[in-house]
Amino acid sequence: DELVSQIAAGEVVERPASVVRELVDNALDAGARQVTVRLTAGGIRNILVEDDGGGIPPQELPLALRRHATSKIRSLEELEGVSTMGFRGEALAAIASVSEMSVLSRTADATHAHRLDARTGELAPGARAVGTSVEVRELFFSTPARRKFLKAPATELAHAMDAVRRHALARPDVGFAVWHDGKLVEQWRRGDHEQRLADVLGPDFVTASRPLDRQVGPLRVLGRVGLPEAARARTDHQYVYVNGRFVKDKLIAHALRSAYEDVLHGHKQPAFVLFLDIDPTRVDVNVHPAKVEVRFRDSGEVYQAVRRAVEHTLATPGA
Ligand code: ADP
Ligand code: MG
Repeated sequence: DELVSQIAAGEVVERPASVVRELVDNALDAGARQVTVRLTAGGIRNILVEDDGGGIPPQELPLALRRHATSKIRSLEELEGVSTMGFRGEALAAIASVSEMSVLSRTADATHAHRLDARTGELAPGARAVGTSVEVRELFFSTPARRKFLKAPATELAHAMDAVRRHALARPDVGFAVWHDGKLVEQWRRGDHEQRLADVLGPDFVTASRPLDRQVGPLRVLGRVGLPEAARARTDHQYVYVNGRFVKDKLIAHALRSAYEDVLHGHKQPAFVLFLDIDPTRVDVNVHPAKVEVRFRDSGEVYQAVRRAVEHTLATPGA
């Protein structure tokens, strides 16, 4: 099972940023209002994610680290209606198989916290407020070939920051803080969507973009699209979400490119943040372990909806 976990880890865990993504996913699934990420050496040495969510009861701590033991999917209907970020029950097991992991957690009805050491299986009393802290030390220490592929801490930090940014843009109702080597590097307070966009992408993005919120058939397209002339808008800030989940989707990217084509006139494609909301039975998110790809039941419909919504917004001054 260790080997199976390590193979799964190869798909789930590529670098510190993948660990950060999974741990923040879990914190949000647990109903956290505040998530704090602490990294050392870009996360290569240490990743600590703390949340104030519901916590894990001590008797369930060992299960949380076991592969598929906690899979949230129990039936096909559940798979189709999946609304939590994690649903495979393999992230913690996979990460534990390629690192030194410990989980410190406390539920509201417990008198104190418990800490589980993933390697030894030892469960010991600990101290913290209600919520969970997952610590991941020395990623890939037992697989030197993989560890060798990690980049310099600054590069790994940049990837990890991008992972946090993806979550933060979708969840303005949750506060985020990121510490690196003991210093606070980002802090986003709880607020509304507009505030979070300005905080994360900068006030420049907000002034150089237009809001949109359009229902096209079964699809709601919501967000902000950068204006072509906004040279200062950062093109690396292109975010698309489907039902709250960050995705990298060729079809949607193509729809955006087509929508911009007529108005770009040689400008670089600007930044944008799009949230697509669609009936969960019309989209399959169970495609890739990294969970950044989706498959739509009717891709033509999605393509047209995105393209029309963006075109309309770009063509309407003051929209
Ligand atoms: P999944 O999220 O797909 O269920 P994971 O391996 O990521 O699988 O997590 C396993 C389980 O551990 C979760 O289903 C959840 O019950 C529990 N868990 C993990 N992280 C947290 C957390 N931060 N707060 C509360 N429960 C957690
Ligand atoms: Mg998970």
